[in-house]
Amino acid sequence: MTKQPSADEAAMLYGNRFLTEDAPDRDFPATGMSALDAMRLVDEELAVEGDPNRNLATFVTTWMEPEAQRLISENLYRNFIDHAEYPISAEIEQRCIRMLADLFHAPGETTGARTQGSSEAIMLGALSLKWKWKQRREAQSKPVEKPNLVFGGDVHVVWEKFCRYFDVEPRIVPLQEGKYVIGPNDVEPLVDENTIGVAAVLGTTFTGHADDIVGINDLLLSIKKERELDVPLHVDGASGGFVWPFLYPDSEWDFRLEQVRSINVSGHKFGLVYPGVGWLVFRETADLADDLVFYENYLGKKDATFTLNFSTGASMVLAQYYNFVRYGRQGYAYVMEAMQKNARALAERLEECGDFELIGADKEQLPLVAFKLVEGKNYDEFDLSWQLSAERGWMLPAYTLPPNAEKEKVLRALVKETLSREQVDRLAGDIATACSTLEKKGGAHPAERKRVKTGTGY
Ligand SMILES: *Cc1c(COP(=O)(O)O)cnc(C)c1O
Repeated sequence: MTKQPSADEAAMLYGNRFLTEDAPDRDFPATGMSALDAMRLVDEELAVEGDPNRNLATFVTTWMEPEAQRLISENLYRNFIDHAEYPISAEIEQRCIRMLADLFHAPGETTGARTQGSSEAIMLGALSLKWKWKQRREAQSKPVEKPNLVFGGDVHVVWEKFCRYFDVEPRIVPLQEGKYVIGPNDVEPLVDENTIGVAAVLGTTFTGHADDIVGINDLLLSIKKERELDVPLHVDGASGGFVWPFLYPDSEWDFRLEQVRSINVSGHKFGLVYPGVGWLVFRETADLADDLVFYENYLGKKDATFTLNFSTGASMVLAQYYNFVRYGRQGYAYVMEAMQKNARALAERLEECGDFELIGADKEQLPLVAFKLVEGKNYDEFDLSWQLSAERGWMLPAYTLPPNAEKEKVLRALVKETLSREQVDRLAGDIATACSTLEKKGGAHPAERKRVKTGTGY
């Protein structure tokens, strides 16, 4: 008679132990499992993960071409920071920075940095503002204890984070009902000799609009002339930096404006690269405070670094360069226009059904639809977000705007490359269906409401 296999042996023969056991989630596992089992364990967990193709909340890239994907997977083992060993990757980073400086109309040779995303780029850019301000003050023998930074309530959370982490007073212009961006009249009363800079947004996460960057630039120019205060302007183009140059090329927001000294942009948003790459570009080399650059002798070679992180993969830098040479200006314009056309198609469908009001669709905007319910409904935006997710799995975020516009509830759909016209039609139909379900039952069940995700999604 043949010997019966033990429980472990049977699991190995016919399946895997984790079919009937909990996944390790607390104690560091005493023993491991086969590579195949480990892969299946993780894969099975992800089966009920959110589907990026139905994620209308994120600005971040969810699809790249197979050729780009190949480059990425072939270079995962390359540590980007090892400039001495991987000088080609470092050179490719520099090419990307030069191309972005060109796209953003830098007047001459300049400098910048690859970062993990716009957050790191903003931290570095704002640190440079702080250091340059300190230098100016010290040159005039003036105190440097009370730096402040001026921005609107329409910024990303990273700006307040910077202020707290690096001890700078945030001077925040509150929003108002019906006014979701800021302009020179908001900024003027907040600027003084301790202002290290003003941050303006190109493409807010809330409604996709831009601050009045031309107006703020003009204001700062007149302050420079009349009060002899040179207050630099940083543009947070995390999303808009790859949209405006192609959809609104004649609209001035970049280094064409004199006080714009630095710009950040997320390569992994409309730069069309997977998560893990952002960029900081200075107007000219002198706008980067030299004290922030570390020169080190690393593995026998002199190297300069200006980063908060150190080791990271080279893949996303290579993928960014791939996109630049693959698409060029014409290709990026084509992709941006396609997204915009589909966003407009969705906006039209939503307007036609009579249940919604669009937010600022007549202004320069990211390729998205920001909208809210018309008054007098027996359900609200949060109910709709929940219902649509329950019925069709679409992740359409509902959120309230920042102070003092927090009474406004907004829904926002990003229209990206993967949302074809066919998908737009389906989405519009699904939204209409969710509305009629809610109309009949009068809002979502309170227990259902609790599960609504209220973050805006980035
Ligand atoms: C997404 C975003 C950020 C943060 O960028 P990451 O690349 O996610 O770090 C900052 N500002 C704005 C306006 C954004 O949209």
